[in-house]
Amino acid sequence: MRLEETIQREILEQRLEKEMENLAQKLFGKTMETASDEEIYVVLLYLVKGLMDVTVPNAGKKKVYYISAEFLIGRLLSNNLINLGIYDKVEEILKGKGRELSVIEEVEPEPSLGNGGLGRLAACFMDSLATLGLPGEGIGLNYHFGLFRQVFRDNLQQAEKNEWIGKNSWLTKTDIGYDVFFGEKKVTSRLYDIDVVGYENGVNKLRLFDIESVDESVVQEGISFDKTDIAKNLTLFLYPDDSDEAGQLLRIYQQYFMVSNAAQLILQEMKEKQFDLRRLYEHAVIQINDTHPSLIIPELIRILVYDKAFTMDEAIEVVSRTCAYTNHTILAEALEKWPLSYLEKVVPQLVPIIQELSRRVAAKYSDPKVQIIDEKDRVHMAHMDIHYGFSVNGVAAIHTEILKNSELHAFYRIYPEKFNNKTNGITFRRWLLSCNRELSALITETIGTGYQRDARELERLLSFYDDAEFLEKLAGVKRRKKEELAAYVLEKEGISLDPDSVFDIQIKRLHEYKRQQMNALYIIHKYLEIRGGKKPVRPITFLFGAKAAPAYVIAQDIIHLLLVLQKIVNADPKVNRFMKVVMVENYNVSYAEKLIPACDISEQISLASKEASGTGNMKFMLNGAVTLGTSDGANVEIHELVGDDNIYIFGEKSDQVISHYDKADYVPKSYYEKSSVIREAVDFITGPQALAVGHKENLERLRRELLCKDWFMTLLDLEDYIAVKDRMLADFEDREKWKRMMLVNIAKAGFFSSDRTIAEYNRDIWKL
Ligand SMILES: *Cc1c(COP(=O)(O)O)cnc(C)c1O
Repeated sequence: MRLEETIQREILEQRLEKEMENLAQKLFGKTMETASDEEIYVVLLYLVKGLMDVTVPNAGKKKVYYISAEFLIGRLLSNNLINLGIYDKVEEILKGKGRELSVIEEVEPEPSLGNGGLGRLAACFMDSLATLGLPGEGIGLNYHFGLFRQVFRDNLQQAEKNEWIGKNSWLTKTDIGYDVFFGEKKVTSRLYDIDVVGYENGVNKLRLFDIESVDESVVQEGISFDKTDIAKNLTLFLYPDDSDEAGQLLRIYQQYFMVSNAAQLILQEMKEKQFDLRRLYEHAVIQINDTHPSLIIPELIRILVYDKAFTMDEAIEVVSRTCAYTNHTILAEALEKWPLSYLEKVVPQLVPIIQELSRRVAAKYSDPKVQIIDEKDRVHMAHMDIHYGFSVNGVAAIHTEILKNSELHAFYRIYPEKFNNKTNGITFRRWLLSCNRELSALITETIGTGYQRDARELERLLSFYDDAEFLEKLAGVKRRKKEELAAYVLEKEGISLDPDSVFDIQIKRLHEYKRQQMNALYIIHKYLEIRGGKKPVRPITFLFGAKAAPAYVIAQDIIHLLLVLQKIVNADPKVNRFMKVVMVENYNVSYAEKLIPACDISEQISLASKEASGTGNMKFMLNGAVTLGTSDGANVEIHELVGDDNIYIFGEKSDQVISHYDKADYVPKSYYEKSSVIREAVDFITGPQALAVGHKENLERLRRELLCKDWFMTLLDLEDYIAVKDRMLADFEDREKWKRMMLVNIAKAGFFSSDRTIAEYNRDIWKL
């Protein structure tokens, strides 16, 4: 058997080179030596698509449909090569032709089909589903321009469209399409598939719906367009600016378009396989990823009642046993509540169903907190999911506890059996094997390849805790990744970095609860210290990457402050030998893959209770960074795994924070008045140096926000943050200690493999 496998591999590998030559000839009339980088990329795209086409699809009698408005898949070439097991071979063949695979990889445009963590999670789940051989598919939308591309002009964020669908892409057009009705208005959909190949296993599909009539030319300046012309604009952008009514209506159009297609696709499959619709839940489980796909519940009920002759009771019973809901946030403003009048405009056919669902709840429970339609006629999407789904899960242990004990407590009392936790995870194929080939090679050389299938085997690294030679190699890998990042940042941002400095990195969506502004205040504090003559033993490099929602004013102001600090610090000859600030432009998955392996200090400093899980924290840990964080989200579980000695935790705990909100007793001004350190940092924002570089309006608004509102309590934890970060920087100088911390973090990261998360979803919820 082994011999047979070896022979098969050899045949495949010999065929690869021929196949590449043939494709280059057929597509471009060139050889692999003469083709351009772009052409070689297309050759590899077709090669991989062909190989995925002949890989066995995962199948079974029950399938999970993971419906999500976002799939932040990132570039696919490198990952697909790895999962197909041919990365090294392809790299070697290319080398023989004088080409570098790493250069070819850079040609691939990144699809931006997600905002951040939630969409990235969905992408990691697709990889793990396929790898575990589970039958399942993702269902979402094929946004032509996805999330905007960020450019900085005049120290401000500008949004431009991100064109990612070229003539050649991973999308495969199918002949599947459905009619979708918005009241009397009809559009016709078209399904595109992206194959997702598991690590040395079968393939699943990511199914992205589009409309036939989409018209890219309606986009004018930047990302603005006529929001009312649904037949042309429906699938142009991910979450278009929803600060006005037209934007919100467009979002409901998108959501209904997504679930109507999903429902038709699922029911079509049931019919083809001749499954009994009354036992839908034995063949299908629908995972509702956050509330964006919640309309799938009334839509399925509507179809079963009006087209399939179910009674309302029967339809509700079947759908409730099929749907499960994942909650991703406790931020009140992020829990969707649509005015009933909006739903009446967009999907009048669903309104009577939603009213009936709401009426049944009201008849049973009088508590206003659990109603679907509230007294202001707003529809609470999460409430519909909880009443009419069979499972409700949070995404980290502490998050699920907060849901049960405070945010969704009224629901927990009614349905304790529905609540469960599924701590998020990340795919190690992308976030270790692909983004840090040096580290994975070192791990393989040390403990073999077992960890690639069973991530918990990383714990075997712990026996090298006192092995100076191994620790030295580990530090060597980190050093190399820092050099690579420095070269990349120089090329992209025009800023030179010192690989000997500490790389302190905060990359994530820009949001006040994530508290990039607190990190900015630390930077100001450090800057003032250095100006005052207190120099750090080692230079520090502060790296940021973040996009802000175009309508989120304070987030724009925080980006502005970071860019202003970048200008001031990097241009100051007294300071720039000791610290640098870089806000990288257009942070996305590809940039994350370069930043994370190079990180020393992983900034996970959200206000406790606000970050549901975080997954960036896991990626950093896996790559040997040490976490500086609050007791929030999955940081809590990281802390438990690595122990007090291998993480830096600061700030007030979630119960203290929740109590501040309950008592409304947090007053930022009192912190400002008590502490000169805080005062100096906050006042710098509107001081002469900042005003000379930045815009008065933005800077003054931000300072006022911090002093008069500070809803996410920046000043509450600032002094503790400064103290713990300084202690961490001092510990960095104890190189032996630091290398051991790196080792423990990598060794304990196995729990955060999304293979574990998906196995738990399957064991407890999906039962495929
Ligand atoms: C992982 C990831 C995120 C999520 O980061 P958090 O720190 O968990 O918020 C966001 N964006 C990209 C591009 C990512 O890869």
